[in-house]
Amino acid sequence: MKITANDPNRKTWLTVSDNSDFPIQNIPFGVFLTRDDIITIGTRIGDFAIDLGALHQLGYFSEIPLTDDIFLQDTLNDFIADGRKTWRLVRNRIAEIFDEKNSSLKENMAHKDKIIFSMDEIEMQLPVDVGDYTDFYASKEHATNVGSLFRDPENALLPNWLHIPIGYHGRSSSIIPSGTPIRRPIGQSRPSEGSDTPNFGPSRLLDFELEMAFITTDINHLGNSIAIDDAKSYIFGLVLFNDWSARDIQGWEYAPLGPFLGKSFASTISPWIVTLDALKPFKVKGPKQDPKPLPYLKQSGKNSYDIHLQAFIQPEGKEETLVSHSNFKYMYWTMIQQLTHHTSNGCNIRAGDMMGSGTISGPTKDSYGSMLELTWRGQNPIKLNDGSERKFIDDGDTIIMRGYCANNKVRIGFGNCTGKVLPALK
Ligand code: CA
Repeated sequence: MKITANDPNRKTWLTVSDNSDFPIQNIPFGVFLTRDDIITIGTRIGDFAIDLGALHQLGYFSEIPLTDDIFLQDTLNDFIADGRKTWRLVRNRIAEIFDEKNSSLKENMAHKDKIIFSMDEIEMQLPVDVGDYTDFYASKEHATNVGSLFRDPENALLPNWLHIPIGYHGRSSSIIPSGTPIRRPIGQSRPSEGSDTPNFGPSRLLDFELEMAFITTDINHLGNSIAIDDAKSYIFGLVLFNDWSARDIQGWEYAPLGPFLGKSFASTISPWIVTLDALKPFKVKGPKQDPKPLPYLKQSGKNSYDIHLQAFIQPEGKEETLVSHSNFKYMYWTMIQQLTHHTSNGCNIRAGDMMGSGTISGPTKDSYGSMLELTWRGQNPIKLNDGSERKFIDDGDTIIMRGYCANNKVRIGFGNCTGKVLPALK
């Protein structure tokens, strides 16, 4: 099916600024509370939130086979479970409804009043009920940096890393939408020198991880796996993802089973899921893979995406400072390799499952995706615009992540992924 929604020449009758993350070519999906406190599934064009439940009830999707309540839900899980054909039909139809040449909704004031909200009238919610969340470790630069810092620079990459998209099962209950504050976690860390007893208290090395996460539809029954060439049709879309990490808790607890409480206290996502379809014009090849992956992970063509990623620190009451500029294309293992690997043992993947990319660090020092790497575990503090310095994240700091793709015709962005750090509970 042609993705007519991606037509770069299409213009909308809504007012959209040139540098908006949400031109009519984006059409992401999210869930929001309206000014009347009704929860609904929606999309966004410019700074307008569009109520898809209302659009559907008023008959604007009559030519698409959808159940009556598909958009009158508090999560996108059922819509995502309907599969790629439905996602495409709906995106294409939304593009048509808001096309400047189409006056049916444009000239219906009563309908517009029910369907279109300004962004400041609504409150974004979590877009999906995340059943399972897996976090990968897919950037070679990040794995090399962390291996050097936590273990041994000579053998920074463990021997399995170049063969397996390494991952672990994360905690879905603490995935929160952008704008939700987080509490500095309390936990155990390594004993101080001369002591046998671990420390227990507020984390002193609180960090962000600049990641993206993809959301899947139902893929396979338990015991079955998928072929890599089919994997992309099961990926609904992507969000920005801040995998908050307490390095002191992590460093003490991670052997031998991996991340646990150093990660599970919170993970923040941007609230609009940008579809893989919308990102299609920005496909690129990922890094060359050497040695060659095993046959079940062998991919061909372009399977990565040129998505600029940024992380900012904003101290309380001050301006923000850009501290990292990375790109999704630096990921060594692609999403389809991660997904294929995930099902290769017969583990079933369901609609609404979320897969974190792992911290996306680039090759240069200003493209590292965590404070751990940017300051080299605190050895090289970062100077912020207000003159203060950071080794890790202070109480009161807001971490802001942004991501966008751009070519000479269209810019597709993700909006903000923000979270403010509150002091630990006493
Ligand atoms: Ca992570």
